[in-house]
Amino acid sequence: MKFQAAVLHEYGTPLAIEEIQTVDPKPGDVLIRLHASGLCHTDLEVIQGSLAYPLPIVLGHEGAGVVEAVGDGVSLVSPGNHVICSWNPSCGHCFYCDRNQPILCEVVTNTRPKGHLMDDTSRMTVNGTKLHHFSETSTHAQYTIVPESGAIRVSKEIPFDRACLIGCEVMTGFGAITNIAKVPMGASVAVFGTGAVGLNVVQGARLSGAEPIIAIDVANEKLTIARRFGATEIVNASETDPVDEVKTMTAGRGADYVIEAAGITHTFSPAIESVRQGGMVVLLGKTDVQREIPVRWGAMMGERVIVRSSYGGARPRRDFPLLVQTYLDGKLMLDELISQRIKLDQINEGFASMGQSDVIRSVIDLQS
Ligand SMILES: [Zn+2]
Ligand SMILES: [Zn+2]
Repeated sequence: MKFQAAVLHEYGTPLAIEEIQTVDPKPGDVLIRLHASGLCHTDLEVIQGSLAYPLPIVLGHEGAGVVEAVGDGVSLVSPGNHVICSWNPSCGHCFYCDRNQPILCEVVTNTRPKGHLMDDTSRMTVNGTKLHHFSETSTHAQYTIVPESGAIRVSKEIPFDRACLIGCEVMTGFGAITNIAKVPMGASVAVFGTGAVGLNVVQGARLSGAEPIIAIDVANEKLTIARRFGATEIVNASETDPVDEVKTMTAGRGADYVIEAAGITHTFSPAIESVRQGGMVVLLGKTDVQREIPVRWGAMMGERVIVRSSYGGARPRRDFPLLVQTYLDGKLMLDELISQRIKLDQINEGFASMGQSDVIRSVIDLQS
């Protein structure tokens, strides 16, 4: 089967829109006709070469569409189902899956860095050359093949451009509050960084009944948006010391829960400084893997929990349909996360606009 996809051939160069070819679904595969995909900062990290993957590759890991065909043995979805892609499928029977930690699935951990699906092969070629899959999803394409556990069936009522957001940014930010921190009603929450993930931390805190919800960023436009998502207090860290501000707003103690969602080296330390003793810090952002993060020892005195989470404790088959229903109930804000809708051939412009303070998420309409 042939279709259009955005291909990265060399780090630091524009993506090329090319006709690519896939084989028929193999046992356990799901072929999805993709309708929408978001542009995530992690995709940009690969384009820039700071996150190494074998090339050429089709990026994208935030996608939604309709099941077109399934391979032998697939029982969880069937053609016609609407699905959201999960970038962390799991085998269900390795060391980590058996210990209820599917995010660490050994089969995926071993095959993903090679740009392969879980059977350690690729399904795609471009002009006869092997193409690599990104994070088992490769959603910057009109079609994709994913493992069955990476195709999560959801209601047909949610539009695709909003559904796709649940697959990465919403799950990561919202799940940090509900699955990882398990924030109780009335707890104080501080969020460093109000990009796409941080805004979902804010709305997770709002729906959990947290108070106050303190949003910290360096761009006033983003802080204004954070208020709409539920922040009760905002702090511009370029104008004032965020650690002092968080302490002032929490009777001098520090916040019960602090979520780091900026992914900038110099925000990890203030995030840890801002939590009260006995509280919890969740680190969502990421930086260069070789970089050391300075932490003042005194900031950890008095018992604190420091957690690193990459996907908000995702259990996609449980969480994605719940998040969809929360949106359909009018509680989860997704429409407001989409700054611009673009076509596949505008993908390079979409990545160029990432980082502008007025762009939260660009979403590609893959069937226009
Ligand atoms: Zn992402
Ligand atoms: Zn596993």
